[in-house]
Amino acid sequence: MVREINRDIEILKIKAKTATKNDITGIAQDLADTLQAYRMTCVGMAANMIGEPKAVIAVCLDAENSVGSLPGAGPADILVMLNPKYEKQSGKTYIAEEGCLSLPDKREVKRSEWVEVSYRDMKWQKKRQKFTGLLAEIVQHEMDHLEGKII
Ligand SMILES: [Zn+2]
Repeated sequence: MVREINRDIEILKIKAKTATKNDITGIAQDLADTLQAYRMTCVGMAANMIGEPKAVIAVCLDAENSVGSLPGAGPADILVMLNPKYEKQSGKTYIAEEGCLSLPDKREVKRSEWVEVSYRDMKWQKKRQKFTGLLAEIVQHEMDHLEGKII
């Protein structure tokens, strides 16, 4: 179910609680549906962006092609991660300029070149994946949301 985007800073500042298996069919599915609906302007979402302070994020794996895609284009390739946790990250950092659907303007933020994250997938299986480039940046942005950090 597509949900409304939360722009309430007080809710965005709440640190996310651990997600459970029961969140798969509710919050996690809604987050994927909402990201799908906003894929023209948004490449990732954290659950508190739909008003749910739970540790769930969703990212467009085809982010490079996703933004600016035409309405009615096929579904974006979305990865949903429950309880994502950094296992390793690059010591090499750079300054990125990022925007956020929940905030008005773009801001500069320091990001690692790559991150390795463990998480539970939509089947509640344990997974571990390395992200590089734009995807690494999106994952870090969304994981910041879970900490209540906003760029
Ligand atoms: Zn954001």
